[in-house]
Amino acid sequence: MEIMGRGFGQIVNETPAYFHLFTKYAMYKFFNKKSPLYGSADIINVCNLHCEHCYWWLNRKENEELTVEQWKKVIDEKFKKKHVFLITLVGGEPTLRPDVIELFAKEFPRRTCVVSNGTFPIKRYKGVYFYWISIDGTKDIHDKIRGNGSWDKTRKNVLDYIAGNGKNAHKDIWIAMTVNSQNYKTVPDVVKDWYGNSNKISFQFHTPFMKNDPLWLPFGKERDQVIDDIISMKKQYPDNYIINPEKQLQLMKRNWGGNGTTPIDCPTWTIISVDHMGREKLPCCIGSAEKNAMKPICEDCGLGCYSVFVSYGMKG
Ligand code: SF4
Ligand code: SF4
Repeated sequence: MEIMGRGFGQIVNETPAYFHLFTKYAMYKFFNKKSPLYGSADIINVCNLHCEHCYWWLNRKENEELTVEQWKKVIDEKFKKKHVFLITLVGGEPTLRPDVIELFAKEFPRRTCVVSNGTFPIKRYKGVYFYWISIDGTKDIHDKIRGNGSWDKTRKNVLDYIAGNGKNAHKDIWIAMTVNSQNYKTVPDVVKDWYGNSNKISFQFHTPFMKNDPLWLPFGKERDQVIDDIISMKKQYPDNYIINPEKQLQLMKRNWGGNGTTPIDCPTWTIISVDHMGREKLPCCIGSAEKNAMKPICEDCGLGCYSVFVSYGMKG
């Protein structure tokens, strides 16, 4: 028996964590009590790429970072105390801090995911659940957004990881694509490119930090078509390869989050997000701990990690 890559023994071991998850869900449903389900941590303030759409570069300031000992404190105070189920490690490029990945993987074994641009050799960690590898189109478009040569590097590193880590290694690779005005036509080809070399693929849409951001794919005919195509591909590709639920995809055809830069229906409380110094980011994981930082535009939001909760009936 295996559910989302989790074997029977593991599910039994994780019973207390599921208990907390279920209790949190029940408390929300019956008493509207809100407690975070997931965590996200920017474990590094450095990245080797400078992608066109990157929200992290927009608000990046200091060069400081936390030590492993300091991260342990953040884990205890921000995540363990609140019994979050799953942690996603982000950056910058988090694979440049293997020491911190190791710590999280030890503290949240098989409940730690790492979001990576995949341009460095991908290392296997015993306690890491899986890697989210960011792909932004077919080779030419991906390189236009992420820099020349980046697609080839990522492709090679993914294939090397799969070849070097046993017959189920592809299960550790999940593809994440952020759809924008430059890459939306490549969605079917991206699915074709990565199917067979990854376990799952997930789509979200570019979230702007300013009105009239040319990368934003406006609500309307073209965006609806992309979403309808993804929904029909869900039926063509077996084993739930395209992981977004249909309800979530339908939501992303319109404003589901808020007004201006204020979240309204968006369930920001579901994920506790900290920056590279362990400070809580607001209003959500692409926000900032700094008061005067640029803010994402909620009414044009295309983020997958919150809209999926809305599609399950959880709101702000
Ligand atoms: S790899 Fe990620 S963090 Fe680095 S520039 Fe690109 S989007 Fe930003
Ligand atoms: S995820 Fe962030 S940007 Fe999107 S609606 Fe929620 S708070 Fe706003």
